[in-house]
Amino acid sequence: AHLDRTAAVDGDVHSYLHVDAEGALAQADAVDRRRAAGEPLHALAGVPIAVKDVMTTRGLPTTCGSRILQGWVPPYDATLVTRLRGAGMPILGKTNMDEFAMGSSTEHSAYGPSRNPWDLERIPGGSGGGSSSVVASFQAPLAIGTDTGGSIRQPAAVTGTVGTKPTYGGVSRYGLVALASSLDQAGPCTRTVLDAALLHELIGGHDPMDSTSIDAPVPPVVEAARRADVAGLRIGIVRELTGEGFQAGVQARFDEAVQHLVDAGAEVVEVSCPSFTYALAAYYLILPSEASSNLAKFDAMRYGLRVAPEGVDEPSAEQVMAATRDAGFGDEVKRRIILGTYALSSGYYDAYYGSAQKVRRLIADDFTRAFETADVLVSPTAPTTAFRFGDKLDDPMAMYLNDIATIPANLAGIPGMSVPSGLAEEDGLPAGFQILAPAMQDHRLYAVGAALE
Ligand code: GLN
Repeated sequence: AHLDRTAAVDGDVHSYLHVDAEGALAQADAVDRRRAAGEPLHALAGVPIAVKDVMTTRGLPTTCGSRILQGWVPPYDATLVTRLRGAGMPILGKTNMDEFAMGSSTEHSAYGPSRNPWDLERIPGGSGGGSSSVVASFQAPLAIGTDTGGSIRQPAAVTGTVGTKPTYGGVSRYGLVALASSLDQAGPCTRTVLDAALLHELIGGHDPMDSTSIDAPVPPVVEAARRADVAGLRIGIVRELTGEGFQAGVQARFDEAVQHLVDAGAEVVEVSCPSFTYALAAYYLILPSEASSNLAKFDAMRYGLRVAPEGVDEPSAEQVMAATRDAGFGDEVKRRIILGTYALSSGYYDAYYGSAQKVRRLIADDFTRAFETADVLVSPTAPTTAFRFGDKLDDPMAMYLNDIATIPANLAGIPGMSVPSGLAEEDGLPAGFQILAPAMQDHRLYAVGAALE
């Protein structure tokens, strides 16, 4: 049914970069055989899933939305993909994304943007707009996304779906092609909070292949989603992430959701996180710095594309590398590599990267203080509903500003979730409600998220 739906709508929505109908059906058949033989099966066995094209999948192309990886078929599965397969979840295909997960709209994909099923003239969010739109357009019940600076939560917000960024280290990054290693975290993209919890529980937990993986049990997310209990919970409204700069209809749905939580027995407090003012500035130094280093491996020798420089008879390795990176990377990727290389260069390191790291600490301290008076923090997920294609494409700063509410969680390594809060009155488009919790308290997100359904 999901493959039929894809055949019918993906020409318009363009959620997928690659569909593996044959592989998915074979996996589904294998589960049927196991069920017929009376084998015990995982709760999600036979439930199909779409995976963001930044996760390596053995035997299936993995491009990260970039031309430089066109045609690359990884020889190994990411740990979380191994877990999906192990649970008997057929993998429907790989979803579209901004190139190397840089962007908030999928307009930076080398293979053309995905569209928002609510209005095909609008963006489905980014970088994981393929994973949000695939779920929102009912082409898949579940998808995997990655969130380095909001790429699971903001796409969920603008497509009326659910997205969780787990605690940093809560889900293995082995096989997640790194954008910024200290910020990247994979997580579930779904239509309900309980679906997200079931998937979170499956993909979470320790992995010796990832040195930053936390060696502790997965927080009790499924139980929290089932109970949906917020009685006595202290909900902190972050002063810096509401009001001015947020679209009226988004703010109105946010206020309503807070009232709903109060009606369900929660208590509201206001908290202030003054360092959030500098979060975007710090993020857009730390991310390009790490990205410039992580993307150095695409050198025309190891993976994917190799381009011969024009008019050179016997090109040197360096000339091939330069020609390949020139042809293989898009403008946004080049912009960030240049910015990151500059910020890391000797003489500037302390002024830029070093300062950004200090700001990162201040932001984490703001969270620690806020969590002394609140059990969870809440805000609108994104300042606006889905914008139109082209609206922010020529203005990188405007695009970056869309991340204002989501980025602090990545800088501090804490978990965050976006759940739908209803449609904004002025444009009839979905608005997102963000919930944040202290590290390894991911279950609190699920209690609050489920209470809002
Ligand atoms: N909008 C963010 C950026 O462009 C998204 C990053 C991410 O989460 N992959 O950096």
